[in-house]
Amino acid sequence: SDFLAKSDPALAEMLQQELQRQRDHLELIASENFTSPAVMEAQGSVLTNKYAEGLPNKRYYGGCEFVDRVEQLAIDRAKELFGAAHANVQPHSGAQANFAVFLTLLKPGDTIMGMDLSHGGHLTHGSPVNVSGKWFNVQHYGVSQATEQLDYDQIRDLALQHRPKLLICGYSAYPRVIDFEKFRAIADEIGAYLLADIAHIAGLVATGHHPNPIPFCDVVTTTTHKTLRGPRGGLIMTRDAELGKQLDKAVFPGTQGGPLEHVIAGKAAAFGEALKPEFKTYSGQVIENAAAMASQLQNRGFKIVSDGTDNHLMLVDLRSIKMTGKIADQLVSGVNITANKNTVPFDPESPFVTSGLRLGSPAMTTRGMGTAEFTEIANIIADRLLSPEDDTVAQDCRRRVAALCERFPLYPHLAAQVPA
Ligand code: PLP
Repeated sequence: SDFLAKSDPALAEMLQQELQRQRDHLELIASENFTSPAVMEAQGSVLTNKYAEGLPNKRYYGGCEFVDRVEQLAIDRAKELFGAAHANVQPHSGAQANFAVFLTLLKPGDTIMGMDLSHGGHLTHGSPVNVSGKWFNVQHYGVSQATEQLDYDQIRDLALQHRPKLLICGYSAYPRVIDFEKFRAIADEIGAYLLADIAHIAGLVATGHHPNPIPFCDVVTTTTHKTLRGPRGGLIMTRDAELGKQLDKAVFPGTQGGPLEHVIAGKAAAFGEALKPEFKTYSGQVIENAAAMASQLQNRGFKIVSDGTDNHLMLVDLRSIKMTGKIADQLVSGVNITANKNTVPFDPESPFVTSGLRLGSPAMTTRGMGTAEFTEIANIIADRLLSPEDDTVAQDCRRRVAALCERFPLYPHLAAQVPA
């Protein structure tokens, strides 16, 4: 349909431009993905019209009989996917999910401990500009300088010293496997709650390509739009149904009003897709593709933080080629590759400049690319970063990016939808 093109051509054109951008760029932002047309259809549906404060079959509004079924389906599928006793599918985002956890488990002034932002932690794990950093006493752990990986002895020492009420694991830029059992042992020693924020790795967890935190953590939060490939949104799960009920109250009425039932329909569709065998194949390919890209970058002389990756992302440490993340980001962006500058552990540069480039495989794996293409992507990035002044190289890189994008079309069903 072309309702928007007719009623609001200016806005329709902006949407068309964004579609075109997604089509002719290599999307390597580790936290992004392309949802299926089915997920988009569920989200762009009549459910956007419905108020449904409360929970399925316990609403404050009439007319909820069908959204009740939709939300219950999303809940049941989330529980099945992750083996949880309880799921709340209403958080509008990952940050909202974490906020509801804090409201449930903490009082202002309590101590929390998560990973330092500059080592790969998230804003909501105690950054001074976030409510988590403003309301709580924040102590951070980082990765070991020698291995650039989690050092559980060091985390234990810090936990014993600061005795946080809430210990947080799960990160935005950590390329290695997280040992939730070890975190549980540390939390038990100090009587702390343990939160796993699996926003980045949820898709890998769902398919068994990363250990599952549910058996070891009091609460598990996630976004639904990264490796899980659903609509933008949040999800909270517990192994204990009673704690789950408290979390429900912290979402609504604690921190949110009416749930976005159209987004929840998108979540139900995405969880349904994630339960299928094809999604397991996809998840495995995400990991293989990231490994292929990391290994080719290493072949080309680049240093990869922690010397590799076990998951969907990697951090290129650009200090060895004396380049900043900011410049590298601009260079790849100039050849239609979308990535983001990122601090590396113990980064001497500011977060606005940084020494790293974060790269991820989920989105281009969704477009159908395999290890041969990810090796080529690594070569394009290497060629561009190693000849920053050479316009001929830049032109060649742009041509190779365009060739890859053309071979793996995005949303072909949208082709003729909006006038050019
Ligand atoms: N937690 C982690 C570990 C994340 O990486 C992110 C997003 O980048 C979030 C939470 C926040 O998610 P949202 O952007 O949906 O609020």
